[in-house]
Amino acid sequence: MGDLMQPLSFGHLMCWALEELRLDGSIFGVKENQFWRPEPGRLITDSFGDRLASPVGPAAGPQTQLANNILVAYLTGARFMELKTVQKIDGEELRNAVPKPCINVEDEGYNCEWSTELTVAEAYDEYVKAYFAIGVLGKELGLGTVDEVGFNISVGYDLEGLKSDKVNSFIDAMIDASDTPVFRECHAWVTEHLGELSHFTREDLDTLSPQVSRSVTLSIMHGCPADEIERIAMYLLTEKHLNTFVKCNPTLLGYQFARDALDRLGYDYLSFDDRHFAEDLQYADAIEMFRRLMAEAEACGLSFGIKLTNTLPVDVRRRELPSEEMYMSGRSLLPLSLSLALRLSQEFDGVLPISFSGGVDAFNVKEILSTGIQPVTVATTILKPGGVTRFRQLSSLAVEVMTDHHGIDGDRLAALVDDVLSDERYHKRYREKVHSRKTDSPLPLTDCYKAPCEDGGCPIQQRIPEYLKLTASGDFTEAFDAIAFDNTAPTILGVLCPEPCRDRCTRLDVDQAIDMRGVKLAAADGAQDAFIEAIVPPALLTDAKVAIIGAGPAGIAAAMFLRRNGMDVEVFEKLEGPYGIVRYIIPGFRITREQIERDYQLAVHLGVRFHFSCDPDYSVEELKKTFAHVIIATGSWGRCPSPVREGQDHILDALEFLWQANNEGGATVGRRVAVIGAGDVAMDCVRTARRIAGVQEAVLVYRRTEPYMPATQHEVNLVRSEGLAMEELLAPISYDGTTLRCEEMRLGDEDASGRRGVVGLGTFVDLPFDTVIGATGATVETGPYARNGLAQKARGLAEVDMSFQSSIDGVYVIGDGRLGPSTIVHAVADAKTAVRAILAKEHLCVDYDTRPAKVEPDQHEVHARRGLLIAAINGKAEGDRCLTCDVICEVCTEVCPNRANVAITVPGFADPRQIVHLDGLCNECGNCGTFCPHAGLPYKDKITIFWTRDAFDDSTNTGFLPLNAGAYLTRMPDRAVRAHRAGQQDLPEEMSRVLAAIEKDYSFMLAAPLGATS
Ligand SMILES: Cc1cc2nc3c(=O)[nH]c(=O)nc-3n(C[C@H](O)[C@H](O)[C@H](O)COP(=O)(O)OP(=O)(O)OC[C@H]3O[C@@H](n4cnc5c(N)ncnc54)[C@H](O)[C@@H]3O)c2cc1C
Ligand code: SF4
Ligand code: SF4
Ligand code: SF4
Repeated sequence: MGDLMQPLSFGHLMCWALEELRLDGSIFGVKENQFWRPEPGRLITDSFGDRLASPVGPAAGPQTQLANNILVAYLTGARFMELKTVQKIDGEELRNAVPKPCINVEDEGYNCEWSTELTVAEAYDEYVKAYFAIGVLGKELGLGTVDEVGFNISVGYDLEGLKSDKVNSFIDAMIDASDTPVFRECHAWVTEHLGELSHFTREDLDTLSPQVSRSVTLSIMHGCPADEIERIAMYLLTEKHLNTFVKCNPTLLGYQFARDALDRLGYDYLSFDDRHFAEDLQYADAIEMFRRLMAEAEACGLSFGIKLTNTLPVDVRRRELPSEEMYMSGRSLLPLSLSLALRLSQEFDGVLPISFSGGVDAFNVKEILSTGIQPVTVATTILKPGGVTRFRQLSSLAVEVMTDHHGIDGDRLAALVDDVLSDERYHKRYREKVHSRKTDSPLPLTDCYKAPCEDGGCPIQQRIPEYLKLTASGDFTEAFDAIAFDNTAPTILGVLCPEPCRDRCTRLDVDQAIDMRGVKLAAADGAQDAFIEAIVPPALLTDAKVAIIGAGPAGIAAAMFLRRNGMDVEVFEKLEGPYGIVRYIIPGFRITREQIERDYQLAVHLGVRFHFSCDPDYSVEELKKTFAHVIIATGSWGRCPSPVREGQDHILDALEFLWQANNEGGATVGRRVAVIGAGDVAMDCVRTARRIAGVQEAVLVYRRTEPYMPATQHEVNLVRSEGLAMEELLAPISYDGTTLRCEEMRLGDEDASGRRGVVGLGTFVDLPFDTVIGATGATVETGPYARNGLAQKARGLAEVDMSFQSSIDGVYVIGDGRLGPSTIVHAVADAKTAVRAILAKEHLCVDYDTRPAKVEPDQHEVHARRGLLIAAINGKAEGDRCLTCDVICEVCTEVCPNRANVAITVPGFADPRQIVHLDGLCNECGNCGTFCPHAGLPYKDKITIFWTRDAFDDSTNTGFLPLNAGAYLTRMPDRAVRAHRAGQQDLPEEMSRVLAAIEKDYSFMLAAPLGATS
C-alpha cells in the first residue's frame, strides 16, 4: 500500500488549495511569491499549434501524474503539460512491475519507472481535475486562463494497446471531456462554489472548453519496430486528428557517437552496450518515416514533429536503483539530445518541428528556445531542491526569447551543440567528485532543519550561513567575529581549505556549491587586522598550564582555544617559525608568508607563548612536572611508502622536495620530472616542479584516470589549467635514476564505493626522467610516541580515546600526528575536541560551543530565492546565494513530485515549520530521501498521516490514521500501535502538538471522512 497514490476528489483538491492559500499564503506548499505571473496577452503558437503563455512545462514523468502536481507546476510557471504516459498496462499491474525507489537524481538523473501508476481511468480524472483547477485558480489568482496552457497527451507503446477500450476512450475523452463524470463533477463543484470565487465567473465556466487536449506525444518502447511506430503515428493523425509528435530515443545517434560523447564528458562509468542501438529505430528508416508522416499531417491540416529525446537506458552498476536497467536523464543527456536535434534539423533543413526534453534548466533554456526548438519540458531539474518553483525562473527566461513556431535555426543550433560539448557545466567533474550530499545525522521526527555545510560538512562547525550573510551585507566585522569563534586560522583556511562544507552545500544540487572559502577570505581581508588589534589576552582562570609540542595548525589551534578560555599555554616548536607544513612545505605560490603571519598574530595577541627552535627530543615525563596537560601535535613528516618496487633509493620524497624548493632556494631536479601520486600533495609537487628553473616537463603519473584522483577537483583543475601533463593508467614499477618503467593498466570494475579498480595489462613503457618524486602519502614518525611510553596501535600510531587522550593521563595527540596526513581544518577540529576535554577537567567553559545568532533571516526572502539557479559570484556577494538551510530547509517538500511532504506551522517548536508526510500522495519514488541532508528518509521517518487502514497497516511510519470524529489509530516512535482520542494526554509531546495543529488549521490533510469538505 505504501506506494499506492490516492487521488483527491476535485472538491477536496479545491478546498485544500483555497484553505491553504488563506491560511499560509501557499497552495500545496508553493508560496504566493513563488507564483509566476505572465504578461497578459503575451502568447505564442507552439509547434503543436497550442497558444501558450510560456513554452515550458513538466515532461511526461513523475510530476504530471496527480492533479495537484500539475496544478503546482502551473502556479510556478509551467504552461505546457506533457501528461504522464498512459498505456494498456496500468494500476496495480504496472506498480508491481516498477521496483521502488524508482528515482535517483543525485547528479545526472536515473529512473526505472515508465507510465502512470494510476489506472488509465484514474489518470484521466487527474488530468481533467488539473485542467479545471488551473482554469479556476488561474483566473482567480490573476495568473492567466486555461486556454493559454497546452495539455499534451502522452501515450504508448503499441497500436493494439492504443486501440484497447481503456486507452481509446481515454484519448477520445481528452479530446472532448464534456460527457465524462469527472468533467461533470468539476463543473458541478465550481457551479456550487461560484459565489465564493472573486474573479472566476459563470461566463468563464460556460466558456471553459471541454477539449482538454489537441496534441499527443507518442512514447515508444525500446525495440519497437519502425513500421509499428509509423502505424501508431498515422492512426493518431488520421483517426484521432491530433497534432502528433513521436518521442525518439537517443539511440538514433548510434552507439559509437553516444559512447564517445559520454566518455569525453567524464561519464565513462556509464555502462551500456549496443543492444538497444541495434534494436531501436534506425536513423535512415526514421528519416523516411518522418517525411511520410509530415506529408500526411500536412494533408490532414495537422502538425507532425518529433520529441527529443527519451532517456538513455544504461545498466545499474553502482546500486543506483533496485533494477537491472535504468533510464538516464539530466545534464548528461543534454549533449546527446541536442546533437540529435542538430542532425535531424540539418536533415530536414529546419522544417521538422522539434519539442525538447533532456537536461534543460535555467542556465540553457534561453539558448535552446532561441534555436526555434519548442516547447521544452523538464523532469530532472524540478526533482532537485527548489522543485517546481524552478519553473518561475524557467518561464521568466523563456518569455524573453519565445516566438511563434517558425522552424529551427541550424547555425544557432550547431553553435549551441559546440558550446555544450565543451562547457564544463556538462562535464561530470563539474560536480567536484561529490556523490551524495547526505550527512550521517539521524533524521529527527520534528525540528529537523539544518545547514548541512555547517552540521555534517565543516569539521569545525563554522557558522556558515551566518558569516555568508554578514559578509554579503558588507559587515566584515561581525562576519569575522562569527568565523573566529570556531576557526583559529581564518586567513589560511580562507586560502587553502579543501572545503568539505562545499560537498554538503544544498546549492550543489541547485547550481554550484557556495564558495565558502572565498567569502571567508573576503571577511578576513576586511576585518582581521582590526580584530587582532582589539584582542586583549583573557584572564587566567586556573593555575593549571598546558604544554603543546608542535606549532602547526593543530598545535596553534589548541593553544588559542585554551588561552581564550582562561588557561596558560606554552608551545614548543622545533623549527624557527610557526605553522608547520603550511609555512615550510606548501608552495609560496599558493599562500604567502604575510597571510600565514596574519593568522599567527591572532595567537600571539591572545597571549600564547611560543618557543621556537626547540630540542625535538621532548620528554612527556619532564613536561608533566610543570604542565598539567600535554598536547602532542607534531604532524606527519615521515617518508611516503615507495611508489616503485625497484630503485626506491632513487625516488625523491615529496616533503623533501617541497622543503628544498621552499626553504633551500630550490631543488635540483633536471629537465624532466615525474611525480607519482594523485593527491593534493602530488598536485603541489608537479606545479612546483614546473616552476623550477631548467625544468622543461613536469608530469603526473597515475595508475587510474583523472576522475579517480583523490585530489580535490579544484587542485586538479589548477594542474590542468597550467597545461601540465597527466600520464594516466600507468603503474610505476621501477626507477633507475634515468628510466621510469611502468606497467600499462586499464580500468576494472567498481568497488563498493564506486571507485574503479585497475587491471595490469602486462605491457610496459619506459619513460625517461631526471627526477622521480614520490607523493603517495606521508607517514607519521612514531618513534617519539614509543620513546615517551604512549601505547601504540597499527602503524605505530598512538592509541587515543574519543577526546584524543593517549594511554597516558593528560597527554593528548592531535592533528596529522594522530592519524596521518589530513587537512588543516581537521587539525583545528582535533584541537577543539581535545581542548573541550581539558577545559572540562579544569571545570572551565568552552566558548565555541555557545552559538548566539547574529542574524535574523527573513523567511519571506529565503522562500523567494528558492528554486532560482544563480551562477557563482566571486567575492563577498557570493553569500547572497546561500539558502540559509538552517532557517528553512523544506527540501523534501520541494523535491517530492507528488507534494506528499508538507511543511506546516506548529507552535512550540524551534523550527518555524514542521514536516508531515502524507502517505496517500506518496508512491515511494525515494526522491526526498536522496536530498534530505540527514541520513534518514523523510517518507519513512516523518510523522505520517494515513488515509486508509490498509495503508496504515502496511507501513511502519510513526503517525496517525483518522478513524471518526476525534479518534485516531496512532503508531508511536517505538512502533507501538494505540488508539487515541482528541484531548487524551497519551501522545509524546511533539506528536501531540503536530496533531493539534493539523486538527486546528490543516484538517483538509486528513482525508475523508474527517477532513474532506467536498
Ligand atoms: C604539500 C602539502 C600540501 C597541503 N595542502 C593542504 C591544503 O591545501 N589544505 C589543507 O587543509 N591541508 C593541506 N595539507 C595538509 C595540512 O598542511 C596538514 O593537514 C596540517 O598542516 C596538519 O597540521 P598539524 O599541526 O597536525 O601538523 P604540521 O603542520 O605538520 O605541524 C606539526 C608541527 O610540529 C612540529 N614538530 C614536529 N616534531 C616536533 C618535535 N619533536 N618537537 C617540536 N616540534 C615538532 C613541526 O615542525 C611542525 O611545525 C597539505 C600538506 C602537504 C604536505
Ligand atoms: S546553501 Fe547556505 S546554508 Fe545551505 S548548505 Fe549551502 S552554504 Fe550552507
Ligand atoms: S514523499 Fe518522497 S518517496 Fe514519497 S513520493 Fe514524495 S519524494 Fe517520493
Ligand atoms: S529535507 Fe525535509 S526532512 Fe530533511 S531536514 Fe529538510 S525539511 Fe527536514
